[in-house]
Amino acid sequence: MSQSETIIALKSALPANIWSEDEDVIAPYLHEWRDRWQGTTPLLLRPKSTGEVAKIVQICAHNKTPIMIQGGNTGLVGGQTPQGEILLSTQRLNKIRSVSADNMSLVCEAGTTLAQAQDAADGVGLKFPLSLASEGSCTIGGNLSTNAGGVHVLKYGTAKELTFGVEAVLPDGSIFNGLTDLRKDNTGYDLSRLLLGAEGTLGIITAASLKLFPKPKETLRVMAALTDPDAALDLLNTVRIGQHLAMFELIPRLGMEYVTTHIPNMRDPFSQAYPWYVLLEWEFDIQGQAQDFATTALEKAMQAGGLLDAVIATSETQSRALLALRENLSASQKPIGATIKHDITVPVSRVAAFIKEANHAVTQHTPNCRPLPFGHLGDGNIHYNIGQPETMDAKAFMALESEMNEIVYNIVDAHAGSISAEHGIGTLKKEQLQKRADPAKLAMMKSIKTALDPDGIMNPRLIF
Ligand SMILES: Cc1cc2nc3c(=O)[nH]c(=O)nc-3n(C[C@H](O)[C@H](O)[C@H](O)COP(=O)(O)OP(=O)(O)OC[C@H]3O[C@@H](n4cnc5c(N)ncnc54)[C@H](O)[C@@H]3O)c2cc1C
Repeated sequence: MSQSETIIALKSALPANIWSEDEDVIAPYLHEWRDRWQGTTPLLLRPKSTGEVAKIVQICAHNKTPIMIQGGNTGLVGGQTPQGEILLSTQRLNKIRSVSADNMSLVCEAGTTLAQAQDAADGVGLKFPLSLASEGSCTIGGNLSTNAGGVHVLKYGTAKELTFGVEAVLPDGSIFNGLTDLRKDNTGYDLSRLLLGAEGTLGIITAASLKLFPKPKETLRVMAALTDPDAALDLLNTVRIGQHLAMFELIPRLGMEYVTTHIPNMRDPFSQAYPWYVLLEWEFDIQGQAQDFATTALEKAMQAGGLLDAVIATSETQSRALLALRENLSASQKPIGATIKHDITVPVSRVAAFIKEANHAVTQHTPNCRPLPFGHLGDGNIHYNIGQPETMDAKAFMALESEMNEIVYNIVDAHAGSISAEHGIGTLKKEQLQKRADPAKLAMMKSIKTALDPDGIMNPRLIF
């Protein structure tokens, strides 16, 4: 059946306030954060319940009509932007269904923003530790579908590890109920897990049961200044004592310059320039331990060498200001022109070598390009962005993207890393996945996709 016949069927089966063909209403859903993809769709659907999602998918499945899924539209690999497909937004599926302090669990709908889920956990004195700079807009459904990482992975794990189970509408329109808060359940395949990180290619997550954690009594952030990434690795080994270290983020000097120049109200916490920085955060279960712990750990690191200076946040305002420097790093690169971005991971022990080799290789290839490696050093995930040379045309620089990708991903492979640490494959990296992934893994993935979605209607252009 044609797409237009499906659209007629959907409009007659659904309440009028669920769908829109109005270009002005649809426009914001077609443009994404990186200004890289511009979408088109004939129909926007904004269901308010799992039942409505199921009805939509049943009609699309019956007619073999492709559908794209969008949460908060903050994804960075082109996975949420329709190119002519019908678009389903989960924004109105935003209820917190339950919070249990006893079970340390929270059940919320897929369109709940990450910040709303954090607030709901906070309301019962607990913590949902997933933390991303996009948390005010990104949704739990998007976080789980991309297996989001963020700044707290080294202590709490990625979104997968923070999830008990999900409710989802499968590609045939049936509803899978995997909502549970059991910490032990070995009854066959873990089907919820299959949907986590699947980028909406195996079904639409409609709700999730999330793991909560005790809220630390005290949190302390420090900005450390360092000679180089090797020194950052030494610092990591010195400061990850006990279960306290929750964040360890690498920032190069160029990043500090961009953020303090291009983002209003950002201030370098040091009175002089240093080559590299690390923003780290410790959490403590007992009040009053933080200052002594920090002083001892930093003195030890200073004696070992490599640590040049450190600023310990002494107030909530200062602590937020340090985090804002890290959180605004991505936005601060927009004014410098075109950037070629990579979200890679290597074993933590190889991060310094990766940065050295990649910086050398990309600047050999394009003299005066501006590599900016930053991010989650504590778990081996570096956002390896390369800014255009100041004198080069942006389009000419972006024409080098596939050559730059080859250079960077070959170094990633040499260090036994991954070409997608936390953003997913989307449409952006599918060729690289086909080229570099284990053939047996690709064949298994294809079998699963075909078994669950034989007509390929769910997020049809992604991953494969
Ligand atoms: C400034 C900034 C900072 C960021 N920092 C980080 C970071 O530190 N770590 C990190 O991991 N990511 C980061 N991201 C990327 C992004 O925020 C995450 O990928 C986030 O998890 C996407 O959530 P979303 O709701 O916006 O999903 P969308 O962008 O709407 O969608 C992303 C993908 O998930 C699918 N999807 C969405 N909802 C569902 C659903 N309910 N069921 C099935 N599939 C669904 C979409 O089809 C698409 O393929 C950042 C983005 C920005 C703009």
